[in-house]
Amino acid sequence: MIQPLDSNDTEQPSVDYLPARMINEYVYCPRLFYLMHVEGQFADSYETVQGRIVHRRVDSGNGRLDAPEVFPEADLEPAEIDMPPEPPKRRGKMKHVQAATLFADADTADDDVDAADPREDNEEKTRSSVHARSITLSSDSLGVIAKLDLAEANGQHVTPIDYKRGRPRREADGTAGAWPPERVQIALQAMVLRDNGYQCDSGMLYFDETRQRVDVPLDDALIRQAEQAINGARAVYDSATIPPPLVDSPKCPKCSLAKICLPDETARLVENRRLSELEPDREVRAIVTARDERRPIYLSTQGLWVGKKGDILQAKADGKLLQEIRLNEVNQVNLLGNVQLSTQAMQTMLRMEIPVAYFTQKGYFYGVAGGLGVKNILVRREQFRRADDTQFCLRLARELVRGKIRNHRTLLMRNHRQPSSITLRELKRSADHATRSDSLASLLGIEGNAARLYFGDFSGMLKVDCDVETSPGAALSEKRPAFDFRGRNRRPPRDPVNALLSFAYALLTKDCLVAATKVGLDPYLGFYHQIKPGKPALALDLMEPFRPLIAESAVLSAINNRMVTPEHFLVAGQSVVLTGTGRKHFLMAYEKRMDATVTHPLFGYRVSYRRLLEIQTRLLARLLSGEIDDYPVFVTR
Ligand code: SF4
Repeated sequence: MIQPLDSNDTEQPSVDYLPARMINEYVYCPRLFYLMHVEGQFADSYETVQGRIVHRRVDSGNGRLDAPEVFPEADLEPAEIDMPPEPPKRRGKMKHVQAATLFADADTADDDVDAADPREDNEEKTRSSVHARSITLSSDSLGVIAKLDLAEANGQHVTPIDYKRGRPRREADGTAGAWPPERVQIALQAMVLRDNGYQCDSGMLYFDETRQRVDVPLDDALIRQAEQAINGARAVYDSATIPPPLVDSPKCPKCSLAKICLPDETARLVENRRLSELEPDREVRAIVTARDERRPIYLSTQGLWVGKKGDILQAKADGKLLQEIRLNEVNQVNLLGNVQLSTQAMQTMLRMEIPVAYFTQKGYFYGVAGGLGVKNILVRREQFRRADDTQFCLRLARELVRGKIRNHRTLLMRNHRQPSSITLRELKRSADHATRSDSLASLLGIEGNAARLYFGDFSGMLKVDCDVETSPGAALSEKRPAFDFRGRNRRPPRDPVNALLSFAYALLTKDCLVAATKVGLDPYLGFYHQIKPGKPALALDLMEPFRPLIAESAVLSAINNRMVTPEHFLVAGQSVVLTGTGRKHFLMAYEKRMDATVTHPLFGYRVSYRRLLEIQTRLLARLLSGEIDDYPVFVTR
């Protein structure tokens, strides 16, 4: 009896085998193969989740198939076959449904399934066949490992059967057929069976949506095609170089990894090489959805206990249920102060790759707990290599500082009651100087001077006059408007505006750190910000151009729209802090800003600031891997 190589897993190679499923991805798109198999990236789409539902019961087999020599020449009792459930019927288009919703559906879909049998028009064959499900076999000569959903054995003759979620390809003559990636995958299964001593001259694809089967004969042409695919995939794997994206391909909008791959964005940057030569005429398709429908949650009620029941997070205080949150609506959990998360809830967060960020009650950012994360060691290796290249660091730092100063200038022009022409001129000059700076030290000086100018005029963007003091319970040392701002101070912040700015920067640091981790980068190794233990230098690099656009804009919005008022602050000695209610109100202002959409100046489509952070971080990874030459710092117009 042949034992599965790994009875728990699907097609994870134990040695250097290429999984047949990944070679399917290679035939679909070599870049997709690289992203999934080399970088270990994955993202769910409606199609991938539906595919898992279809495979769920198939995968519950014992993974055993009798060795070829123990099969008699037929005459075996038929085995009982568990077919996969029919996927739940859905109305309309649902292209970007959250995985957890569908998992929930899958759990209930088991109950009343009237599943189809791919061999229903071939009963004679079924009666004299033996079936085994979920078998993993490998071939040393091919260097391939394959997981068979179902193997149907007649004597020593075995047919692999692969389940597909959707519908078959419609051939020119109207008959049901298979797409090249599917044909190659089933051919590889057949070839691996042959290599293990079984007789196999065809495979079968079963399409769950239409309940149709398609026979795939293993002829010489298909074997050659499969061998070429193995060699091509192996070459990409060994090269450790990401293949270029497909150009204007209809495959991309259907690809679950489009938001990771950024095909049109990368193609545009690669084709033009230098950002200064970018042509505005090439269209970048808005494949990336404008925003993630899931939301971060912030839990700040002191003494709160958060547990998990099914697919729901339950927040309780003193044993009383206060709030329920569906897991499929959450993309980040933030805990402020004394809030407990149960082990079961934490395990679920880690498994679902939902980051859990910890803050003090006052909003000081401790750090983030995350799952195993992206296995993309290659990009981290490049990050470490580039961080030692002083010219690379300087070139990137110049752009980051220039972008930050230009965005500061834009914020003043948009929001100041009477923007000072001198300040605007000096900021423009500083941004130009930054691009010619010859060292990180001089860049720091340019950035510092520009910040002083900018914050010197910051109060002109505050549009509320509050002639009250900040109490309750305490008073500022001098009588002045509550939102009077006379320059940046911190550690501790000594006025309400600085308290808000510090909290906003802590939140933005956390979001940049999460974005860096999600892409597979080390958030503690930066290029402009240098190594300092405990300092998330890369997150600080990434956030530079976004400080005015996200953090400072959220502060202005919170004050000017009276979401926070003087009553939302407490004074303790020199320090001014937000009250619990004030923090909640500001978090709303911050999240509203993160959710606001903005037009990307290079790509022309609108995305939320949260999505934008991820796009910019992925483009930084492309720069590190050498796929693009320049980092397109986000500068608003
Ligand atoms: S988005 Fe397009 S180019 Fe990118 S991996 Fe998917 S199919 Fe390939």
